[in-house]
Amino acid sequence: MDWLVSMPKVELHAHLNGSIRNSTLLELARELGEKGTIVFSDFEHVIKKNDRSLREVFKLFDLIHIVTTDHKTITRITKEVVEDFAAENVVYLELRTTPKVNLALEMRDVGVVGIDLSGNPTIGEWATFFPALKFAREQGLSVTLHCGEVPNSVEIQSMLDFLPGRIGHACCFQDQEWRKLKSSKIPVEICLTSNIRTETISSIDVHHFAELYKANHPIVLCTDDSGVFSTNLSTEYALVSSTFGLGRMELFELARKAVDYIYAGKGVKMELIKVFESVGRTLEYN
Ligand code: ZN
Repeated sequence: MDWLVSMPKVELHAHLNGSIRNSTLLELARELGEKGTIVFSDFEHVIKKNDRSLREVFKLFDLIHIVTTDHKTITRITKEVVEDFAAENVVYLELRTTPKVNLALEMRDVGVVGIDLSGNPTIGEWATFFPALKFAREQGLSVTLHCGEVPNSVEIQSMLDFLPGRIGHACCFQDQEWRKLKSSKIPVEICLTSNIRTETISSIDVHHFAELYKANHPIVLCTDDSGVFSTNLSTEYALVSSTFGLGRMELFELARKAVDYIYAGKGVKMELIKVFESVGRTLEYN
């Protein structure tokens, strides 16, 4: 695990709201409790718990939506999330938050590299969001989609036809969709712990990571919601190692290849390539 923490890593699927420290949530919830906005004891046990059930995950998100409503809190949380990823050697991070297309375009010179389609997959339709996502892409923003969180063949295929820069999850795919995905070579953001905790995948050993990895399909390991699901990126790599038997060199290659799928420009990519090259050299000698 120490080695995985020190290995450089790239995180491409992390939601800001889901990556908040437990200690910060506890502090913010206590303050809201003192103000009478919430009943602190309703949330205390859920915040302090690590192995949360799906119901408890939803309960925690209820709290997160209440606490993340002012600029000062969002600023604090963002700073802490970036610090936490940096502390485990995440050398490049794409952090997601609720997007507004025009605002994303206005802010593309200050760190916005793309937009994401996410939310409750059982509500709404792909067709509603398609025009905004198409517009964003025409304006030069990269697009990633949460895709296949629930079985919906028609929507999954439409999303794949859109040819997004990446997709997240790809859990509930049928044979036809697997074929389409593999021929498209669209990179997949793999979130193991999240898929298990949300019960989208029944158990880790049957996760589609193995099939995509074996097929040499572009994949990147990600956390999704490190706070809510009590994980971090090093833990996700450790999980791949223990479940699917990947060794150090293979794990390093997995992390290195993620650089190909980032949304930042060439300059950043070149810097990251150098970071991985220098670590790769020491690995070969050891
Ligand atoms: Zn997600």
